[in-house]
Amino acid sequence: MKTVEKFFRKTAAYRAVAADKESGRTSHSYLIVTRDEAWAREYLKALAKLIMCEKGGCGECRACRLIEKENYADCEFYPKEGEKITADGIDLIVSEKCYVKPLEADIRVFAIAGAEKMNLPAQNKLLKTLEEPPKNVCLILSATSDYTLLPTVKSRVKRLEIPLFSAEEIYAEFEGRFADKAKLKTVCALCDGRPGEVESLYENDAVSLSVGECVSLLENMKKSRDIAYYSGKLIKKTREEFSTFLSAMRVVMRDVIFVQEGRADMIVNSAKAGEISAIAEKYRQGALFTFLGVLDEVTAAFEGYANQTMLADRLLFALLEENYRWQKL
Ligand SMILES: [Zn+2]
Repeated sequence: MKTVEKFFRKTAAYRAVAADKESGRTSHSYLIVTRDEAWAREYLKALAKLIMCEKGGCGECRACRLIEKENYADCEFYPKEGEKITADGIDLIVSEKCYVKPLEADIRVFAIAGAEKMNLPAQNKLLKTLEEPPKNVCLILSATSDYTLLPTVKSRVKRLEIPLFSAEEIYAEFEGRFADKAKLKTVCALCDGRPGEVESLYENDAVSLSVGECVSLLENMKKSRDIAYYSGKLIKKTREEFSTFLSAMRVVMRDVIFVQEGRADMIVNSAKAGEISAIAEKYRQGALFTFLGVLDEVTAAFEGYANQTMLADRLLFALLEENYRWQKL
């Protein structure tokens, strides 16, 4: 079984659809909501297999194999990989393709990926079909969040939430597949509950670089003039690198708190244990907890596309100020 399917099977979403199918009441539409963008389309495939395969997604039958290749006549994926979702594309599905009878299965499934990117005309086209679904048609959608979707669309689809998974659960699934176990452990903590990120994070040196950078920043930031130096480095990062940096900072912070709590055995970045102990000496725990709060705010603002320079400065100032404030208490 594919790794993504193993994760899918752990979810309440999977159980809900399996129960629908079991009772012969498969919904005419489902919406998968997952923050794991890298796997959004993969979850959609897993759902299509669950709905269409006689054994609920065996991975081996003709339907499963063809769905995997996005090549099954009765299960169409839209848009094609690398293409954009458009109102015309949705229109073609809902006004024509939906009315073609299935060729070999008993239903036709339309899998629409990246539904959060649908504009209003596209959503309105879709809405008509969701209101009066043709017989033997199932529309399945995936989205990284549903706040761009019309309330009328949301109310007509059955929502399936893919949760974030714990670092331990993710590590357990990937353990046998990667040589460097220490690095994998860091990656699993860094992926923020999204197993679809593991592979690219592991292959990417940005992870070890970011961890090293966070450690050296926490060790060496002393005066406000240091802010300009670190800020200069942070604003040169691409969005992706900055995002990895924020995740790395959270993991390193957690390690530092573990050391302060006398649980050095729990730290993720064991290769940097010495530096992390030194940082644990330098910062008061109150400062670290306040800083973690700021880190959460900055991460949320970053996901909402706030200005990277401003966020970098906010983070660095908070680190310095909080440490200063808590030392004085
Ligand atoms: Zn199958």
